[in-house]
Amino acid sequence: MEADEKTSETTSVSTQVKPKKKRSRKKKALDLDKLADSLKDTISDFLGLNILGIPEELIKKIVREILDIVITSSSYKPSTDTILKRINRHLDIVRMIIAARMLEHMKDFTNEQLEFIVYYGGKMIIPELPRLYKILVKKKLFDLLDYLKYVWEKYGQPSPVKCPKCGFYSVMPDSTCFICGYTVTDEYLREELGFEEKFREYIKNASVAELQEIIDIGFVLVDKNNIYNPKYRPRKPGYYFPIYLRKRDILLISEEISRRKIKI
Ligand SMILES: [Zn+2]
Repeated sequence: MEADEKTSETTSVSTQVKPKKKRSRKKKALDLDKLADSLKDTISDFLGLNILGIPEELIKKIVREILDIVITSSSYKPSTDTILKRINRHLDIVRMIIAARMLEHMKDFTNEQLEFIVYYGGKMIIPELPRLYKILVKKKLFDLLDYLKYVWEKYGQPSPVKCPKCGFYSVMPDSTCFICGYTVTDEYLREELGFEEKFREYIKNASVAELQEIIDIGFVLVDKNNIYNPKYRPRKPGYYFPIYLRKRDILLISEEISRRKIKI
């Protein structure tokens, strides 16, 4: 199907060999708004937008955005058939746009609309996930909530710390959950990050100077795998959780420092 389409497009261009004819066909910018108006019903039927119950105005907006993606040349208007074929070829992104725009512009949703948004929204609904989460909880749509976790883990930026309230891996370094807004305790963070064990390991390997520095700074940064002196945290992006040192931690450091001094 794709090959056919390409061939027919190429042929139609290459048949215009006569320079005169080419010149007479002046470059005329394609009016996508106008085109969206005329193709709105066809595209809406093709994608089932009216069955989904999307408001008329929003359908127009979505169709306009879809045309922007599938029409690559600004002067040449493809046939309706070609446009539909291209939409079919870009169905993943087209559905993502529909889902994202629905979530962005609509206030009340039917269960079917929510299903569409959650299953097809992909990476485009990530910024709106907290709102979507609230809607799904209110409607008790637990299957969709489970799928939403998968969406977050696949397309979002999952954190190493799971939120005890919503169950998403979305606790941020400031201790609050990106999805549900819950704040976890310092104790919880330490446990989830496996702080104790990592800290002992870190103390063993850090230099005396570095250990001394950490006592002065008062906290360390912890990610999924390691502990860092805040001064030397890696540049690569990721979640680095500040863990403030408690008396017990400082005691461990002091013991390690004096142990090494004895060895010398
Ligand atoms: Zn949460």
